[in-house]
Amino acid sequence: AAKERGAGSYCLYSRDMGVAVRDRLELEARLTQAVHAGELEVCYQPQVRLSDGRMIGVEALCRWHDAALGEVPPSVFIPIAEETGLIRPLGLWLFRQACREVACWDKPEEGLALAVNISTVQLTDDFIALLRELQANCRASGTRLELELNEASLVRARPEVAAVLDALNALGVAVVMDDFGSHYSSLRYLRHFKFSKLKIDLSSIEGLETSEEDALMTSTLISVAHQLGLEVIAEGVETEEQRDRLIAEGCDLAQGFLFGRPVAGERLRTAAVPA
Ligand code: C2E
Ligand code: MG
Ligand code: MG
Ligand code: MG
Repeated sequence: AAKERGAGSYCLYSRDMGVAVRDRLELEARLTQAVHAGELEVCYQPQVRLSDGRMIGVEALCRWHDAALGEVPPSVFIPIAEETGLIRPLGLWLFRQACREVACWDKPEEGLALAVNISTVQLTDDFIALLRELQANCRASGTRLELELNEASLVRARPEVAAVLDALNALGVAVVMDDFGSHYSSLRYLRHFKFSKLKIDLSSIEGLETSEEDALMTSTLISVAHQLGLEVIAEGVETEEQRDRLIAEGCDLAQGFLFGRPVAGERLRTAAVPA
């Protein structure tokens, strides 16, 4: 009986695996098609300065709506894109598209920051060449480019990445440590890589009102970042209480549903300059 059950469960297991593999292959094929046909979209979420509530920049977020599968979230398709190398054409497309769109918006006098998420596997010579080209156009339209890199990506990074980040800084492209506090939160990264901003992960902001640990983590990160000369942005701010708490802690910038959800470019066209 044990043997039978064993065989039966093996059968079930392999059948489930078969489905998972087939789904994954189908996702991969559809994503490849979507990237090459230019079917992805870019959404933009406002970033505000906490002292006066003014929008100072946007984060570009990739969106994929598949005709058969519906809305596929980035948490599903970005890892697939990273594993297959599709992240490189996807990233080149997204960066170009975002720069083109933001260039058409009305902007405040100080200009707008355009933050784009990247994975360290994208930091190739092609990408640096593209940034050099876009950076020249962006200066003319008053857009400041920023790259958001998360910890998980840095853990896997090749040692040359530190030198690439230095080169980006020299180009005038700011590098942001994204999702800080979500995983390892190594302070060593803040010293080793040349960042201009630290973004506190939404998991710490979520608990700001209810968890003493999250509140302590947040105030400590703000203080350490400031001592290292970094600006601090909080992500996932959803309530006025969280905002007020962040203001009291001296946090510089914020992003989250309280200030605006990610929306298509047309919806931000003229939102950048208050009426
Ligand atoms: P991220 O860079 O940390 O982006 C912030 C995520 O938090 C976004 O999810 C955004 O929609 C969500 N968010 C913003 N405000 C709030 C809030 O107030 N509450 C809550 N609960 N969530 C909020 P999204 O768009 O699903 O993206 C997920 C992740 O996928 C991003 O996390 C980023 O790591 C990755 N990603 C998205 N687009 C790209 C891309 O073009 N390239 C790369 N390499 N990664 C991307
Ligand atoms: Mg980000
Ligand atoms: Mg983030
Ligand atoms: Mg995050």
